[in-house]
Order: sequence, then structure tokens, then C-alpha cells
Amino acid sequence: MPGIYIHIPFCKSKCIYCDFCSITKLDFNDNFLSALKKEILIRKNELQNEFIETIYFGGGTPSLLKTSEIQKIIDVIFENYKITENPEITIEVNPDDITLQYLKQLIKIGINRISIGVQSFNDEILNFLGRRHNSVQAEKTIKYSIEAGFKNISADLIFGIPGLTINDIISDLDVFIKYKVQHISAYHLTYEKGTKLHKLLTSNKIKIIDEEFSLQQFSTIENHLISNDYFHYEISNYSLKGFESRHNSNYWNGISYLGFGTSAHSFNCDIRSWNTDNLSVYISKINEGKLPSKHEKLNPNMKYNEFIMTSLRTSKGVDFELIKSKFGIKYFEIFITSTNKYLKMGYIIKNKNNYILTSKGMFLSDGIIADLFIV
Ligand code: SF4
Repeated sequence: MPGIYIHIPFCKSKCIYCDFCSITKLDFNDNFLSALKKEILIRKNELQNEFIETIYFGGGTPSLLKTSEIQKIIDVIFENYKITENPEITIEVNPDDITLQYLKQLIKIGINRISIGVQSFNDEILNFLGRRHNSVQAEKTIKYSIEAGFKNISADLIFGIPGLTINDIISDLDVFIKYKVQHISAYHLTYEKGTKLHKLLTSNKIKIIDEEFSLQQFSTIENHLISNDYFHYEISNYSLKGFESRHNSNYWNGISYLGFGTSAHSFNCDIRSWNTDNLSVYISKINEGKLPSKHEKLNPNMKYNEFIMTSLRTSKGVDFELIKSKFGIKYFEIFITSTNKYLKMGYIIKNKNNYILTSKGMFLSDGIIADLFIV
């Protein structure tokens, strides 16, 4: 069943690695929220009465919103869309904004999953990344979330950071394990053009860690979490049994979704669309009753590429019988030929009908997936 993504494009300050759509001018908040609710209304017939299974508040920093503001957004969704009986409703929070009271209020308004932007419990690393919180606030947010009654907690971790050691990683993971955090997303630091981090790199103030050490960090995370009952169900995601993110799993399973707010993407299995990332344009277009978005219709090659990319990211991998039935024999043959060398190299294994990335393959997935694309 489809999901809804809401992008809240505000942050108090910009982290050095961030290329997400977020601005630090918080005074746009009221106009944005009013436009956001209008967009939710304008697009209410797009899913043609399908039931919504998940709602996800991402950003930016959704936890900058008051709970009454979040409640009003949820109300507009519930009033205008058909929602399944037990929806997963997630909000991303930053540890520097959070109080126990706020978390209890989130539960009251129906949020049942919280995703905490921990990134690290090492204050030097947090400082380097330009995060606004410290390790004490990060741990307190996990404790408070449990105390407030959240039964489905996710936390983000970044690795591959210059200066980060294997011991740092293990001790960070041990904090999550201690609190039985149900879901962990672990991302490698990336150097996106236009970020402060990228400038530090190009001016030789920092160096990217070497690939072998990156792989060692990736393997440490995987081995440590697996030996503590976590399931590595997607390249960057681990969960205790039954706590896979329903929202993100729907993306990887090719299920349609609606994205509201600046830069949010939508997909209906045939057409992909994306909103402008310019907040003023977003607000003024919506106020004129127009959609501030562009779209593209996927041709068969694009649909195949999308299928390969999303399936290969998951622990289930690519079901080649599905390639035959969805795309036909020609695509099946292309897939078998293009994956052959990765099978030989041990980056992909075959399990019954499925082609699955091995651990090394997951680490190198960006290059492998791009190579399997039809261009
Ligand atoms: S909190 Fe998230 S969205 Fe905001 S600047 Fe930092 S990384 Fe970017």
C-alpha cells in the first residue's frame, strides 16, 4: 500500500555534509505549513482511493515543528485520504530539540515511530560534522523516547568519517544495543558538491579515508549488529525482527508514494515527479493553485533500472523470474549477462530465483548497480 512523505525544509543550522533541501530561515514556517496543507488537499485524488499505509515526516528538521502543527498536518491527511487501520507514522527528530514532554505529545497525536539523528556518540565527531547536539543529548533522546512510550525507535549512524576509529563504531553501536533500539540506519559519509565538507576536501584540509578502512568499518557494523540479533535487510539498514521500516521497504518494493513539501518526490509506478526545492517558488505556486513540480514518464528501460536498483539494495535481492514476467525475456537475458562477472567475483550470489549482493557487493553497490543499468 502507498505511503506519504512530508518534507519539512527547516534546520537551525547547516551540518557540514548536508546537501538535503533545508534552509535556516525559520520565519518562512507559517507560510510553508499553510502551502503544505494546500498541496495535500490539491493532490487528494492522485492515489485514486488507495489506502495509505505509512506517513513519514522527514527533512530538514521536522522536530522544529510544534506538535500542534504536526497534528494539523496529520488531520488534513486523515480527512482527505483513506488510511489503513494500523499505519506506520514516523518522524525524524534531532536530539538538540527534544524534551520528554515533546515526545509524549508526539505519541498522543498518533506518531508511532521515531527516527533519531544520532550520527555518533563521540563529541569531537559530532562537532566536526557541525551537528548541533552532543552525545549526552543523543543518549537522552533515546532514553526519553523509551520513557515516552515509543516501541519503534530508529537511529542514524554515520561512518567513514575522518578520525573515526573501529572502537568508536563499536562503542556507538553498543549504546544502541544497550537500549534495544529496534532499527539502525548506517550511512557512509559522502562529500557532496556545494557542501562545506566538500570544500574542506578540495582545499586539502581533510582526506577521504581509504577504501579498505571504509570496508572494514562497514563490515564491523554488519558483524557487530548481526551478532546482536539485528537483521541486515537493506544496504544501509538493520533491524530487530519485525521492525523493518515499512515506509522505506515500500520504496524498495516499487510501491507508489506521494511526497509533499519542497523537493519531495512522488512515484506512481509509471510517472516520477518532484517538487521544486525553492521554498518561495513552492509557496507562491501552491497559493496560485498550481503544482510546483516537474515529472517524467518512465520508459521500459527506466522501469527496469528502477527495479534492479531498488531490489538489489535489499536482502531479498532481484527475483529473476519477476524480471521475466514484468519486463520480458530480453531484459532477463540482459540481466543474466550483466551480472555474470559479479557472480564470478563473489559480489553477487544466486539463491534459488534471487540474485543477492554479498557483503562486499553491498559495500560496492553504487558502482555495481550503475553498471547493471541499461543506458
Ligand atoms: S539536521 Fe539533517 S537536514 Fe538539517 S542540516 Fe543537518 S543533515 Fe541537513
